[in-house]
Amino acid sequence: VMGQMMDQPLLVSSILEFAARHFGDTEIVSRRVEGDLHRYNWRDCRARACRLANGLAALGVTMGQRVATLAWNGYRHLEAYYAVSGSGAVLHTINPRLHPEQIAWIVNHADDQYLLFDLTFLPIVEAIAPLCPNVKGFILMADADRLPQETRIPNLQSYEAVLAGQPDRYEWPQFDERSAASLCYTSGTTGNPKGALYSHRSTVLHAYGSAMPNALNVAARDTVLPVVPMFHVNAWGLPYSVPLSGAKLVFPGAALDGKSLYELFEGEGVTFSAGVPTVWLGLVNHMKQNGLRFHTFRRTVIGGAACPPALMDALIDEFDVEVVHAWGMTEMSPLGTACSLLARHTTLPADEQRAVLRKQGHAIFGVDMRIVDDNGSELPWDGTTFGHLQVQGPWVIESYFGEQETALTDGWFPTGDVATIDAEGYMRITDRSKDVIKSGGEWIGTIDLENIAMSHPAVLQAACIGMPHPKWDERPLLVVVPRPGMTVTREELLRFYEGRIAKFWMPDDVVFIDSLPVGGTGKVKKTALREQFAGHVAA
Ligand code: ADP
Repeated sequence: VMGQMMDQPLLVSSILEFAARHFGDTEIVSRRVEGDLHRYNWRDCRARACRLANGLAALGVTMGQRVATLAWNGYRHLEAYYAVSGSGAVLHTINPRLHPEQIAWIVNHADDQYLLFDLTFLPIVEAIAPLCPNVKGFILMADADRLPQETRIPNLQSYEAVLAGQPDRYEWPQFDERSAASLCYTSGTTGNPKGALYSHRSTVLHAYGSAMPNALNVAARDTVLPVVPMFHVNAWGLPYSVPLSGAKLVFPGAALDGKSLYELFEGEGVTFSAGVPTVWLGLVNHMKQNGLRFHTFRRTVIGGAACPPALMDALIDEFDVEVVHAWGMTEMSPLGTACSLLARHTTLPADEQRAVLRKQGHAIFGVDMRIVDDNGSELPWDGTTFGHLQVQGPWVIESYFGEQETALTDGWFPTGDVATIDAEGYMRITDRSKDVIKSGGEWIGTIDLENIAMSHPAVLQAACIGMPHPKWDERPLLVVVPRPGMTVTREELLRFYEGRIAKFWMPDDVVFIDSLPVGGTGKVKKTALREQFAGHVAA
């Protein structure tokens, strides 16, 4: 017997329609690359998204075709999210921090028909346009008077010209919810990047699931500032979960330094935010140096890389900001787990509570996970056994864009992460498979070693890499960025580890550098560190 409920497909366009109808005058504020603040509301956003959808149709964009963006977090990018996916085309967000050749490769691989870009990225587009002959046109996300006088870019026009004269109503087409909505490539630290092709269904379900209280907990009374870029896994779904919650949205544009972010947080009354650890380090440093406080900001989600304990402590203890540690990946739309306390934890002493919060947390409904050994046998949830983390669910990829073969093993997606799961269901990432150090046949978790180093007052950042070793295969080398104006010696740091780790985990050596190399998504690039310190001989 079938249920007798309305059969409405889960489509991305319905989210914007909902926000415009039910929270129409709630604001969207954007810091533009021009420097000024742009303000409008969900109703205006829908009107302009409709105009863009009409404009793209006039340019000949049809169902299933890819339309790319190279853009910061801002209102025009948001309009493109809805106009492109809503009309049945596929929004392909590109990470502008990638090398131009890699960007050109991605544009061609995705067969992008149009490319929308922010003024900041004009030089990139100049460089890639000749390499991307199949792109029919380039659209500068600005007013017409911002178009360059002379350019090598063919078929260049302004975004506002595409919207000009278009009606601000558009009949969002209804189609199969499993149709593609957006496309995002992984940064491809090994080999060519691979695309995750999200569907309308997966996007809407992820938006629902991620907005729940155990995860992002977005509510209509919130003012949300996504620091995580819209070119990095759809800003963790915030451009969808914020409108379906009716919240106010604040976009930082290109200004992601501590000072600019702080001013925007305070000026707009931001209550909730999300980003990778490196941006929070920048913000917290700026605030410490200038003796600043938050007045409205209450909660942030930190993920994309392990949140350093010292950063979590500073945010909670010094700035009174609740930290939700979350884990996910491009192939998972991206949210998989988020960490919050159980009722029984609330009576624990502060340090034991904090130990819980440092984990990556519980699976969100919609995601299942397990850990397995090298042979694929499931491992126990005891909090100490670590193994390969695998996931399943309606917003996890089945295969990569353009590939026939499945990306799954026994029906599970292998994340490439190494983790423990404890009896209460909390998952803790100990490493990525490619970063884990194998010493004498045993695994050494680099994240733990880094976290301990970063809890030393004189350490700003730390990264641990495996060095080839004739007897043990690999041994840990600790790379440290000292806090400005502070010094610490190799011996002090090694002594700091005593009693905190198994003896064989002790780094063989410590080296000091000014800054760690970071990749396109703001994460430390261990491949670059391994190259830099290849051949390093322990002191
Ligand atoms: P990339 O591989 O390009 O970095 P993603 O941005 O999708 O792609 O990153 C996903 C990976 O980031 C995860 O597989 C995991 O290794 C790491 N990661 C994400 N969140 C966390 C976290 N909270 N703690 C530790 N590692 C994390």
